[in-house]
Amino acid sequence: MNKINKKTVFKVMVALILVAIICLTGCAVGLAVQNYKLQKRVASVSANVDDVNALNAENEALKTENADLKQKLEASQKELADKQKLLESVDPQKLILAEKVLASQNSPQSTETPNSKVCYLTFDDGPSDRTLEILDILDEYEAKATFFVIGSNSKLEYLPKIAEKGHTIGLHSNTHRYDLIYKSTDAFFEDLNALSDKVYDIAGVRSKVIRFPGGSSNGTSKKYSKGIMTRLTSQVQINGYAYFDWNVDSGDAENNNVTADIITNNVLTQAAKKNSICVLMHDLGNKKATVEALPEILKGLKAMGYRFEALDETVYGYHHAVTN
Ligand SMILES: [Zn+2]
Repeated sequence: MNKINKKTVFKVMVALILVAIICLTGCAVGLAVQNYKLQKRVASVSANVDDVNALNAENEALKTENADLKQKLEASQKELADKQKLLESVDPQKLILAEKVLASQNSPQSTETPNSKVCYLTFDDGPSDRTLEILDILDEYEAKATFFVIGSNSKLEYLPKIAEKGHTIGLHSNTHRYDLIYKSTDAFFEDLNALSDKVYDIAGVRSKVIRFPGGSSNGTSKKYSKGIMTRLTSQVQINGYAYFDWNVDSGDAENNNVTADIITNNVLTQAAKKNSICVLMHDLGNKKATVEALPEILKGLKAMGYRFEALDETVYGYHHAVTN
């Protein structure tokens, strides 16, 4: 009995131990599976966290870039506004002037040496009884000049001779009546075109060179139209004309008692301080003194190193300050 009992107990114990081993093994496998699943989840969560961090960093970088761009945009807008303001404050006439001054700085004229002084002699209000005398004296000194003519004069038959000798016929005015030409821009161009056609019909020259009666600085025009000279000085250039005032005044039109000596002295004194001159004189029947002074003026200026040329539309300058 004891022997049987002992065997049975032993068998039961072995069975129990086996059951225990099976249970433990099962638990261990279950735990391992769970652990594996957990690790996998942890890995996936941490991967998501990395993604979120990366997105945050990218977002911050974009924010910084955005702020930079905004700053640059604001700076550009401010610069643009400043430039627009500057552009609005510049008078269109001054712009044209600035462009021409820049162009003239690159032209040979601005690089004058003492031996290349240039003189533009100009005779206003002709042709007249004096025109032929003036032309002869200019020939004698091999000098070229410019005649700013009036269309209502009786001596227009001299126009071809002026052109043939290589001088310039400039347009002064058809009527030379301030009350008519300075009342409006249209009135001015109507008068100018009438003179231009006359010169073309008689001399075959289409002149693009003009001198305003009284010069661009005249204040008399204010009586007929305020601001007319400001408009005209700009408009004539837009229409392809070059206008010329003067920087040496012979004074021959001041009164009828001006002598040849005074005229010569006026010109030579003013010319001595300059390298490039445009001389105002008159071609009128009663201006005998101008003709008498001309040989001395030519001799004196030649001695100073001046050469004598005729104006054309490629020459720029000798503009007065516009006062109306
Ligand atoms: Zn005149």
